[in-house]
Amino acid sequence: MIDRALFLKGLAGATTVATGGLDVWAPRTQQVRVLVAADTRGETPHVAPDGTFAFGGRRWRGAPSTVGAPDGTMLLVTTIDVDQYLQGVVPLESPPSWPAAALEAQAIVARTYALARRTLSRPYDVRADDADQRWGGVEAEHPAATAAIQSSHGRVVTFAGGPAEVFYSACCGGHTADASTVWNGAPQPYLRGVEDPHCAPAPEYRWSRTIPLDRAVAALGSHTGGTLVGTALANPDPTGRPQTVALLGRSEANVPVADFRRALGYEVVRSLWLRAVRIDATQAPPQFVIEGSGRGHGVGLCQWGARFFASSGASAAEIVTFYFPGTAVTSV
Ligand SMILES: [Zn+2]
Repeated sequence: MIDRALFLKGLAGATTVATGGLDVWAPRTQQVRVLVAADTRGETPHVAPDGTFAFGGRRWRGAPSTVGAPDGTMLLVTTIDVDQYLQGVVPLESPPSWPAAALEAQAIVARTYALARRTLSRPYDVRADDADQRWGGVEAEHPAATAAIQSSHGRVVTFAGGPAEVFYSACCGGHTADASTVWNGAPQPYLRGVEDPHCAPAPEYRWSRTIPLDRAVAALGSHTGGTLVGTALANPDPTGRPQTVALLGRSEANVPVADFRRALGYEVVRSLWLRAVRIDATQAPPQFVIEGSGRGHGVGLCQWGARFFASSGASAAEIVTFYFPGTAVTSV
C-alpha cells in the first residue's frame, strides 16, 4: 500500500513525468526502472538461464544494472516491463483470494502509479519498497494476480486525456480522504474524497487502541510541558476527519493528526481518521485510548472497498472510476 511517511514529501514528486498526452503511454515504452537496492554493498546480481536474477537472497525480473551514486555507493536498478514488475506488486497489496475485478482494479492503479513515476531526474523510476510500491520479486508472484495483470494489460487511469495521479490505501473508513488536506497540496479534482459504502465489513473499518498513558506522555509530552491531562479532536475537514489533536498538559498544543500518528507509531494509530482520543484515569496505571476509522492515509482507491464492491458484481473500471471520480480507464 502507498501508506508512507515518505509521501509527506508531497505530491510534487509524482508529477515529474512528462504529461504531454497518451503518446507517453504507448505499450512499447511500458518499461520502468525499479530500484532494487540503494546500496549493493559489493554484491553483484547473478543472472540465471531463465532470465531472472538473484540478489539479496531473492529472485527478480528485468535487466539489472548498477549505477554509481554521488556518495560513492552503488545502486542496483532493474529495467523491466511494467506488467512483469506488477506480478510481484499486486499480490502484496491485494490478497490473491480476492475477486478478480478487485485484483484487476489494483493492477490498473498500480500500473498507472508506476508509469506516472517515470522521470529523467534520477536513475530509477520507483523504489521496490513502501516509499513507492513494495515489490516482492519472483517469490511474491501468484497466478491469480498474474491473470488480473494480463486481463487488464495496457489499461491505465486517465484524466482529461492524460495520466491520472493515483493513490491507494487499505481501508478508507467510509469516506476516502481529500489529498489536499492529507498532503497540503492543490488536489486533483478526482482526489477530493468520496463517500464509500463498500468497506464497512473491513476488519479495521473501526479500530481502537489502548496504550499506557506514560507511553503517550513520552511520545507527545514535549508539546505540553511533559504532562498530559486532557485531549480533544478539532478542525474537521470536509470528509469529517479532524485535522488536529488538542493536547492539554502544563501547556496546550494543537498537533496535526499526521504528527500525532507519527509520534505514537503507525501500528498504534492505524489511520489519519481519528474518532476519539481520551485519557482513561479509571485504570491503574492510567491508559490513553485512541479510536479511529480505516487503515492508511485514505486517499484514492480503498482496497477493502474494492474487494467488497467487486463481490457485488462491479467491474474493475467501475471500481476505479468510483474511487477516482471523473477519470476513465483507458487502454493504450
Ligand atoms: Zn473505503
